[in-house]
Amino acid sequence: MVIVMAPDATDADVQATVGHIETHGGQAFVSRGVMRTIVGVVGTEDVLETLDESNLRSLPGVAETMRITAAYKLVSAQNHRKRTTIRVGGVPIGPDTFTLIAGPCAVETAEQTLESALMAKRAGATLLRGGAFKPRTSPYAFQGLGVAGLRILADVREEIGLPVVTEVTDAADVDVVAEHADMLQIGTRNMQNFALLQAVGAVGKPVMLKRGLTATYEEWLMAAEYIAQRGNLDIVLCERGVRSFEPSIRNMLDVSAVAMLQRQSHLPVIVDPSHAAGRRDLVVPLARAGIAAGADGVMVDVHPRPESALCDGAQALVGESLDELAQAVATIPPLLGRTSAAHLAG
Ligand code: PEP
Ligand code: MN
Repeated sequence: MVIVMAPDATDADVQATVGHIETHGGQAFVSRGVMRTIVGVVGTEDVLETLDESNLRSLPGVAETMRITAAYKLVSAQNHRKRTTIRVGGVPIGPDTFTLIAGPCAVETAEQTLESALMAKRAGATLLRGGAFKPRTSPYAFQGLGVAGLRILADVREEIGLPVVTEVTDAADVDVVAEHADMLQIGTRNMQNFALLQAVGAVGKPVMLKRGLTATYEEWLMAAEYIAQRGNLDIVLCERGVRSFEPSIRNMLDVSAVAMLQRQSHLPVIVDPSHAAGRRDLVVPLARAGIAAGADGVMVDVHPRPESALCDGAQALVGESLDELAQAVATIPPLLGRTSAAHLAG
C-alpha cells in the first residue's frame, strides 16, 4: 500500500502515520520530496486488512491511500479514475489537451535558439525544447554548451514566453538545470540511471522521462516509479522509438506504447517522432500516427538551417515540413476531443 501525504502535512503527521502502521505490525518507508511525502507500507495481507484504508485516510495529513498490486505503485493507473494532467510553467499536458513541444535538438547559439523558438511558436508549440547537455554516442561529437546553453534557453523564454524543457544527464547538474528550466528531460540513454532518477525526483520541477532504447513497458514504468517514489509525481512519459532490426530507420516508433501506457499508468504519454525517425521526411507521418493513437503531445526538432546544425540536422523540421506538422497538430487532436494547448494559451 502507498500513502500520499497532503502537501501541508507536518512532520508530526508523518510520524503519527508511521507509528500507526508500526503498531498494526506493518513496516513503513518514508520518502520526503519537495512536493509531497510518500509513505510506502509493507506487510502481510492480514496486516493490510487490520490497517484499514478508511482509518488511514482519516489520520491527520493523509491525502490518499492506494492498495496497488502492480509492481509500479505510484504511477499505476490502478486507483486513478482519470488520467493526470501535468502543468509545465502553466502549460497543460494531459488527456483533455494536445501539447506541441518544439525547438532545436541542441542549443548552439543565442540567435539559432531564438530563431528555432520563433519557428516552434509559429507552428503552435507551447513549450520550447533544446539540449544544453547532449548525451552523444561519439565523444568527438558536439557535447552541448552546458550551463551557457541553459542561460540562452532562459533568455529565450523571457523573450518569447515559452516554458523550457531541457535534458539533464548527470545528477550533479540537476539543481542548475532546475534553476533554468521548467521541465527536466531524462534521455533514452539515462532511463535507468537510478541516481539521476532519484535526483530529479527530489526536485520540484516536472520531468519528461524518455523510453530507453530497448526498455520494456514495465522497465520504463519502474523508472518513472523511482522519480515518483521521491515525491515528484509530475512525470510525462515520452515514446521516442526503440531499437529494431531495420537498418534504414534510426528507431521504430512504438505506437502501441502510447495506447498501452495510457492503460497501465495515469501519467501523460507523448511521442518524439524526430528521434524515432532520424530523418525529416518521416517525422510528420509518425507524428500523425502518434496523435491518432492518442498521444497527449508531440515533441519535434526544428532548426532554421538544418544543413549546418551541430546535432541531428537530418531530422529537423523547417519550411514546408514544419507547416505540415503544424497542420497535423491543429487538425487531428480536435477530432479526438482535445483542445490544443496553443489555443488555450491564446
Ligand atoms: C533529445 O531529445 O535531445 C535526445 C537526445 O533524445 P533521446 O534521449 O530520445 O535520444
Ligand atoms: Mn537529438
